[in-house]
Amino acid sequence: MPTTVKAYAATSATEPLTPFEVERRDVGPKDVAIDIKFAGICHSDIHTARSEWGPANYPVVVGHEIAGIVTEVGSEVTRYAVGDRVGVGCMVDSCGECKNCTAGSEQFCLQGNVGTYNSVGKDGRPTHGGYSQAIVVTEGFVCRIPDGIELDVAAPLLCAGITTYSPLRHWGAGPGKKVAVVGMGGLGHMAVKLAAAMGAEVTVLSQSLKKEEDGLRLGATHYYATSDPATFEQLKGSFDLIVNTVSAQLDFDAYLSLLDVNGAFVNVGLPEDPVSLRMFSVVMGNRSFAGSNIGGIRETQEMLDFCAEHGIGSEVEVIAADKVNEAYERVLASDVRYRFVIDTATL
Ligand SMILES: [Zn+2]
Ligand SMILES: [Zn+2]
Repeated sequence: MPTTVKAYAATSATEPLTPFEVERRDVGPKDVAIDIKFAGICHSDIHTARSEWGPANYPVVVGHEIAGIVTEVGSEVTRYAVGDRVGVGCMVDSCGECKNCTAGSEQFCLQGNVGTYNSVGKDGRPTHGGYSQAIVVTEGFVCRIPDGIELDVAAPLLCAGITTYSPLRHWGAGPGKKVAVVGMGGLGHMAVKLAAAMGAEVTVLSQSLKKEEDGLRLGATHYYATSDPATFEQLKGSFDLIVNTVSAQLDFDAYLSLLDVNGAFVNVGLPEDPVSLRMFSVVMGNRSFAGSNIGGIRETQEMLDFCAEHGIGSEVEVIAADKVNEAYERVLASDVRYRFVIDTATL
């Protein structure tokens, strides 16, 4: 019999999130049932809850930064046992057979992956995410949270962590590399920690110097205000890699001028409208203007293991479920250092 669990749901694009009950499917042979302990609040949750990325299928329980404990496993599950500490990120299923899935890039499944929420599962039912007490997920989309990372600071790693880890790895952040991170928010603060742990020399490019102390504490060596035109003059041609975590229109030509020859400017944010840049900005200097979307499951596990090894978690503010609407307003006002995490015991 499916289990009914408490949750917080969006019921329309304009109403606040409210208490809700959601049904979780029976544990199938390959399924893992997870008692959710913490769920991070990602900006994508807000976009979805408010139908800003196309109409949502209401009611919808969002949340794709999930950390919890295994409570039941199916008969064919080999990798997890009751009591294990686990996490679930942005995806809960995919075809498992296409070239992208077999290469470990389930986020680019040719059949389309099944999102953790506001998607449709293989059983034809809508998926609901982490702002809830429990979830049932097929084993292949569950990651292990190593001992040594607390579950509250681990939850945001499942989206903010992998979203920044993947491009840093792909574009070779490491010793001898100069990496700039644009934006010092939920994604940006993770990019700083991860790039520093990889051995790169890290610079934060933020609108103001308000969070400079934090940036330096989290691993950056330099911190510049992008509101100061002198920053762009001073840093011309400096970086091997720039990770842009800001989802807004920027003067991309100005940012591209900060890249060294063969440097890459990689976007993980998604501005709503098309952006423009002069092709001179990439052609001169063999520069790349690129993008990166989360990471596959294998890489997500690698990221969690890396974080455990380096003692990295997210900087979080843990909140009760009834504070979620307030938290949304604060996320929109950039008034959080640096990720809200819902304590699901308060649902
Ligand atoms: Zn997210
Ligand atoms: Zn596939």
